[in-house]
Amino acid sequence: MAVATGTIGTTGTATEPRTATPVLETRGLSKSFGGVDAVIDVDISVPEHEVRALIGPNGAGKSTFTGLVVGRMEPTRGSVRFDGRDITALAAHERIRLGIAYTFQITSVFAELDVRENVALAVRRAVAGLNLGRRARPRQVRQRVDEALERVGLQARTATLAGDLAYGHQRLLEIAMGLAQAPRLFIMDEPTQGLAPDETERFVALVRELSASTTILLIEHNMPVVMACADRISVLEAGRLLAEGTPAEIRANEAVQAAYLGREVPVDGPDVGAGGSP
Ligand code: ADP
Ligand code: MG
Repeated sequence: MAVATGTIGTTGTATEPRTATPVLETRGLSKSFGGVDAVIDVDISVPEHEVRALIGPNGAGKSTFTGLVVGRMEPTRGSVRFDGRDITALAAHERIRLGIAYTFQITSVFAELDVRENVALAVRRAVAGLNLGRRARPRQVRQRVDEALERVGLQARTATLAGDLAYGHQRLLEIAMGLAQAPRLFIMDEPTQGLAPDETERFVALVRELSASTTILLIEHNMPVVMACADRISVLEAGRLLAEGTPAEIRANEAVQAAYLGREVPVDGPDVGAGGSP
């Protein structure tokens, strides 16, 4: 978690505009699927070491936005910049090499491989990118794999086939795969879906810890998790950016409350750690 708004990478105070180049910046980012405008003119700017949550009702465009940032989809309009560089035209694997890691809303581990090998693949992929195609050394890979698995609490399950893990553990494995890439920007789409309450708690602690070394974009439904992790929150509704602010500001924002069906933003929602359908 960033120490306080405005203290990282800037010389100003919280009220002055940031001067440092954001890690992630989208401008006018838009995506239409046939007649459906899934993402409309979204400008988002995430400074280094921030934990930014992206929230919004189902169908708001969160996963589509993520797909545009990581390069799984092409935008209809607009641009994506990473560390000041326009990456809109880069393929997904090229973005991974630049240091963008992500986990999907729908779990995508290699079921036939064991836990260790899943993470090792992620490390090799990232290291190959940094070393311009050279292979990662086995010891280096092993060390990174061990560290990542320990951080998410899967160190006792290294030899288990990923397909045999409980769903919540598969999600943690995905997070370990992202972590092992030592990403500069780590994007997680609904990472706590399917986690048990104690796993969710561990996840919150992990995100806080990780923000010291990376920048995080967290797409998350579980509002207690959002409120506990995020430095700032961006709210999407029907494809558009509806509001942006600190957790306290977002909680008090009337437009946001209206977007959540007129109810108060569910900060104490009943779904802490509860599984939902992806
Ligand atoms: P969220 O992740 O916030 O729930 P999505 O980004 O998944 O929202 O979806 C935003 C809108 O775009 C929805 O109306 C959804 O039906 C539509 N959509 C998403 N992906 C596709 C697709 N591949 N083809 C057509 N429509 C899509
Ligand atoms: Mg989604």
